[in-house]
Amino acid sequence: MSDKPAEDVLGPDGNPLSKKALKKQQKDAEKALKKAAHRQQEQAQNPQAAEQEKEDYAKDHYGQVRMIQSRDKPDRTLLKVCELTRGLADQKVWLRGRLYTSRSKGKSCFFVIRQQKWTVQALVSVGEKVSKQMVKYIANINKESIVDVEGYVRTVPQKIESCSQQDVELHAEQVWVVSSAAPRLPLLIEDASRPETEGDLAHVNQDTRLDNRIIDLRTQTNQALFRVQMGVCRHFRQHLEQNGFVEIHTPKIISAASEGGANVFEVTYFKTKAYLAQSPQLYKQMAICGDMDRVFTVGAVFRAEDSNTHRHLTEFVGLDLEMAFNYHYHEVVDVIGNMFVAIFKGLQQNFAEEIEIVHKQFPAEPFKFLEPSLRLDYREGVQMLQEVGVEMEEGDDLSTPNEKLLGKLVKAKYDTDFFILDKFPLAVRPFYTMPDPEDTKWSNSYDMFMRGEEILSGAQRIHDPDFLLERAKLHEINIEKIKAYIDSFKYGAPPHAGGGIGMERVTMLYLGLDNIRKASLFPRDPKRLTP
Ligand code: ATP
Repeated sequence: MSDKPAEDVLGPDGNPLSKKALKKQQKDAEKALKKAAHRQQEQAQNPQAAEQEKEDYAKDHYGQVRMIQSRDKPDRTLLKVCELTRGLADQKVWLRGRLYTSRSKGKSCFFVIRQQKWTVQALVSVGEKVSKQMVKYIANINKESIVDVEGYVRTVPQKIESCSQQDVELHAEQVWVVSSAAPRLPLLIEDASRPETEGDLAHVNQDTRLDNRIIDLRTQTNQALFRVQMGVCRHFRQHLEQNGFVEIHTPKIISAASEGGANVFEVTYFKTKAYLAQSPQLYKQMAICGDMDRVFTVGAVFRAEDSNTHRHLTEFVGLDLEMAFNYHYHEVVDVIGNMFVAIFKGLQQNFAEEIEIVHKQFPAEPFKFLEPSLRLDYREGVQMLQEVGVEMEEGDDLSTPNEKLLGKLVKAKYDTDFFILDKFPLAVRPFYTMPDPEDTKWSNSYDMFMRGEEILSGAQRIHDPDFLLERAKLHEINIEKIKAYIDSFKYGAPPHAGGGIGMERVTMLYLGLDNIRKASLFPRDPKRLTP
């Protein structure tokens, strides 16, 4: 404490301190003196404790591990957080996870370890194995760091509501940082996990999420969402395999635009140009000509469309199928309709928990469907729209708002979120579409819808080379460039039909999400090429 008059005391900037600042300085100095005196007294009374504090008896129980460079193969089993249940009570276990939250309280520190969607509470308290320094170290570990923890599983008298493991906690004795996260996170998992309906609390906007996607992906919702997406692909595959389909892989670098039109990405191909496939269309048909009979493929599809909408990406995953039929393309429509039913049922049966998790953050009505699927004629759809005052001609294409409206009308009338619209006007379909045999205003083509948005486009394809050539010319397609495709039908081709589905769209619409980007791991759109 200084005895000098206030005007003589200068602050760090060289200016005299204010009365208030001076008072605070005096108080701080008094406190420090008191603390030092107290410590001296304690040390005098207990010289052993003072010695221990200095040398930190727990120093081998915490810290940063040496970078794992595959040096050792320790004989240690790391348990999964989800495995920590009452059955392991009082056993000593090791586990690895992210430090989700931490809070120190006196001589203890409570922290939560997160592993994907599972969380467990852990705590360290100063004691025989845990020093004061260790508690302080743990309290200061940056959130999201990956840590190895050893401790005793203990049952708790009251359920821990905030964790997935509610009946136990971990009394830690060792805590090692395996990979440290930066001190400042671009977004907090808690904020990114919040339902948008909780208006007052912080939310993370979509661009921030997507810019920092690896952190955003750590939320429970995203962990669940991408498992639902896996389910879409699994049940697509499973059902088709069970029905005699063969999985194929088609080239993505092609010499001509598969769907025609301008929305194709051009790439340099040595001394010439090539294109990124807009769909596996031509190749899956060629596989049919190669007697594969029933084929499907799951793969990247590219569209150079400057469509900045909630449902368009420039790269998406196509779930495509094609199959030979006997007499009528409705044989194929039925197979596809049943396949969708199998996907919807499979998701309900095997991913109910994940669907519920997603809906907690992004609430939506459960997805409804009929078995067998509802099939309407295009003209019936137009009529339903006309009846509610939409002005359109029978042969007009469906606009996006009209598609949505039709979805609502169908839901109200038939109580289904999934339906098939059959026999589209020929003029709005690609060149390879088979015209209706009775009236060429119409075609043997169909779209399928989920919650009023298109998720599949398909048709019977022309399998006669002369007719195909005629239709291609009419569409002003460069015949030279698709010669191999047209020639495939010269050597005999079975009648066939198929369709293309957008995987992200199915995920988005099944879950009732508002944006396709939520259902794409690292979305590509006209404005986003990274990360
Ligand atoms: P839309 O009219 O919605 O732009 P489209 O008629 O161009 O679609 P198709 O070429 O028939 O679509 O593709 C078949 C399916 O692929 C669509 O039903 C949809 O599920 C998906 N799909 C098409 N384009 C995109 C895109 N840009 N982003 C994501 N999915 C798409």
